Amino acid sequence: MSLDALIALAERVGRDSLAPNAARWDREGTFPTASYDALRQAGLLGLVVPAAHGGLGADFATYMQTVPHLSKYCATTALTFNMHCGCMMLTGFVFDSFDLPLEIKMQHQRRQKMHFERAARQGKVYALPFSEIGLDPSQALFSTTAKRVEGGWIVNGKKVFASLAGHADYYGVSCTEIADGKQPDFGDIVMLSIASNSPGVSVAGEWDTLGMRGTNSRTLLFKDVFVPENEILMPHGSAFQSRKVWPHLYMQLTCTYMGLAEAIFDFVVSYLRGEVPGMPPIKRRNIAQKQIDTAHLRIKLESARANWLRAIKEAGPNPSNEALQRMYVAQYTVMEGAAQIGFEAIRICGGSALQKSLPLERMFRDARCGSLMLPYTADISVANLGRACLYAEGETD
Ligand SMILES: Cc1cc2nc3c(=O)[nH]c(=O)nc-3n(C[C@H](O)[C@H](O)[C@H](O)COP(=O)(O)OP(=O)(O)OC[C@H]3O[C@@H](n4cnc5c(N)ncnc54)[C@H](O)[C@@H]3O)c2cc1C
Repeated sequence: MSLDALIALAERVGRDSLAPNAARWDREGTFPTASYDALRQAGLLGLVVPAAHGGLGADFATYMQTVPHLSKYCATTALTFNMHCGCMMLTGFVFDSFDLPLEIKMQHQRRQKMHFERAARQGKVYALPFSEIGLDPSQALFSTTAKRVEGGWIVNGKKVFASLAGHADYYGVSCTEIADGKQPDFGDIVMLSIASNSPGVSVAGEWDTLGMRGTNSRTLLFKDVFVPENEILMPHGSAFQSRKVWPHLYMQLTCTYMGLAEAIFDFVVSYLRGEVPGMPPIKRRNIAQKQIDTAHLRIKLESARANWLRAIKEAGPNPSNEALQRMYVAQYTVMEGAAQIGFEAIRICGGSALQKSLPLERMFRDARCGSLMLPYTADISVANLGRACLYAEGETD
């Protein structure tokens, strides 16, 4: 499907099915199940699945430009949808880009087919829980372990901030594979798909947060969970390489926040024009300060979008150091930019726009969450950018 057709589809689903419930998921802190029914019905669960497997065949740049058209209507749905698509992209084109022996690639094709068809033809939903308390996955091994047994693995461990917890059909869990007598290393990281109804899987804790309240990002516990052999999303030897080979994949959450920033800007314009439904038609656009404020907001939005568009078009395996730097710039500009646009929008619109009956305060809270998300939080993006500016690949002092 072309980018234009996908955008039209996302707009229709977003406007008709996501927007009506967005405030409810936020207020109640409940998972957007009805949004997923709509995504499934529209075939969007197969957005990044190749057409040969029943999907819509979007590549990375197409995916990134489609999701903002869902996010502007319901950011909670879009962020959880990022996790689902992330699993499909990792097991799909990210894996395909690795330089691996043909035998390993052929073996993985059978697994790709299984995951793709579950998503695109059976409407199953995947989550992407990799976070563990205090763990930077580029520095340390996951403490969630997968021990080889006959016919598969036994998984034990805990994942925090697991969006879609209790609502996904499969969890794409990054584990460290352990074996008696071997000290595990990064080459032993494996990403398994664990059926959410497997014995030993449970959900714990609460998710009562400032923003993104419907993502249900609770804690997942795995206690002696048996995972069959074929349930691999990324085999060991490849899982740890994905961030090195395809670093742009991990900027994928920005598409949700780009859509959110655009929606906040659109709200400000409607508000100042006196066109927000349910509000008295008071025009504030004739105040000179509001015109200047709107101009500055537009400059922020367009700067973020320009950096972002360039970065997603450069995305691909083994990017140059220059492209990597632009990716960190885009990541930072969108994630912190969305939060700043939300912050400024509230000042520009004023007190009457704070009401819970209007979407602005929800979008402001949701926008604040983006730059906190690993692996490229705002702080980590800046740290990585500075290093990439000053050191060539492999260079040390
Ligand atoms: C809405 C939402 C949904 C989420 N969904 C998922 C999900 O589906 N799957 C998943 O795996 N995770 C998910 N996460 C978790 C997220 O990716 C992070 O793992 C989590 O927010 C980290 O928590 P923390 O900031 O307390 O951690 P910490 O890592 O302790 O970070 C604390 C602070 O230190 C900074 N920091 C950390 N390390 C460095 C460093 N090396 N250099 C400089 N600064 C650093 C961080 O930027 C942050 O400001 C989600 C988070 C949110 C907010």
